[in-house]
Amino acid sequence: MYSDVTTNNYNTFDREHLWHPYTSATNPLPTFLVRKAEGCTITLDNGQKLIEGMSSWWCMIHGYNHPLLNKAAEDQMRNMSHVMFGGLTHRPAIDLGKLLLQIVPPNLQKIFYADSGSVAVEVALKMAVQYQYAKGFPTKNNFVTIRSGYHGDTWNAMSVCDPETGMHGLFGSSLPIRYFAPSPQCGFSDVWDPKDIEPLQNLIKERHRELAGLILEPIVQGAGGMRFYHPEYLKKAHRLCKEYDLLLIADEIATGFGRTGKLFACEHAAIEPDILCVGKALTGGYMTLSAVLTTNEVAECISNGTPGVFMHGPTFMGNPLACSVAIKSIELLVSSGWEEKVRTIENQMRDELSPALLLPQVKDVRVLGAIGVIETRKPVDMAWMQQRFVDEGIWVRPFGCLVYIMPPYIISKDELHKLTTSLIKIVKEIV
Ligand SMILES: *Cc1c(COP(=O)(O)O)cnc(C)c1O
Repeated sequence: MYSDVTTNNYNTFDREHLWHPYTSATNPLPTFLVRKAEGCTITLDNGQKLIEGMSSWWCMIHGYNHPLLNKAAEDQMRNMSHVMFGGLTHRPAIDLGKLLLQIVPPNLQKIFYADSGSVAVEVALKMAVQYQYAKGFPTKNNFVTIRSGYHGDTWNAMSVCDPETGMHGLFGSSLPIRYFAPSPQCGFSDVWDPKDIEPLQNLIKERHRELAGLILEPIVQGAGGMRFYHPEYLKKAHRLCKEYDLLLIADEIATGFGRTGKLFACEHAAIEPDILCVGKALTGGYMTLSAVLTTNEVAECISNGTPGVFMHGPTFMGNPLACSVAIKSIELLVSSGWEEKVRTIENQMRDELSPALLLPQVKDVRVLGAIGVIETRKPVDMAWMQQRFVDEGIWVRPFGCLVYIMPPYIISKDELHKLTTSLIKIVKEIV
């Protein structure tokens, strides 16, 4: 069934015809053919087993092939896998909405379902512009953000990503010009330095008449640098938004659903954003779905203005299959003692990754919630390192100077131990 010949055929087609994320079509990095995945284990086509350290990019919080999530999808499929959301509605969308409202900050009362994280960011930015327009401030139509951010790959999402690690070099001249404050310098557990907020404060003071909102990833900046910043920064940023009539857009697409040790990272600063984007782990990693939540005030203002409707509506909006799996994933999360699990992972990662600080290859080690980061002094050779991780039986995908793990919450002590020790072993091999 899984002969070498077929494996080779598959690998050859993949290399010759399929584009992978951020990869050359003609000189791609190697890919590994996966046969199946279950719990915290990815099984390659050659039978080799890898312990999953990435949760498939933040998503797979309950592990792969979960019987309850499978059942949710199967049951829903028998009724309908999809139906248009224009003029029609359905229980999965409604029940998911009810669940979301139970766990997000209570000021958020209106929900817009979208297809992916990037689209959620587009929707959030459009909401902010429509809100300011309806309020009578048509010139408040631009955005401020902080450097080292990542908000997705579509046009406007790209425009608010970090201008250096993001795609501004290539697309810069065709992107809308946004305002960037320096990234926060005070780390999550550092002593708060009030100077940290001053650049953002000055920028907002100077530009607020042009600004519809501030978009940021609360507390954890993910793909833009895996940085953990001080909750006081977020508190102050929130206050500035109130003071200067900017909407605060919290992009919790990576941080949502417990990853940072709080259900949503905004809770670290006890703030309520005006707009919240969730995605990634929303369906437990089963399929793509995102949601944008906002306040009654924003929704009413948009709806009372011109044209009186919100101008967005994806074809697969509120997809019932995705909603059904998301319902089960959230039910599972809140009933599974996630907080204890994430804290246990955090403590073990702190114990087992911290010794890497003594290595000459390592610049920093940081852990928050179920996120563990080793920052190297030099960018890593990705192809080499990826192969070495696979040789060792773990799945970790580094980028730049960042070697990091964010395992599924169900990972066992032994699996996590294997992940951290193999990780450090390979980091030691960096020359
Ligand atoms: C992944 C991510 C996005 C984009 O989500 P996609 O589903 O890949 O479009 C946006 N913001 C943050 C913080 C993310 O981590």
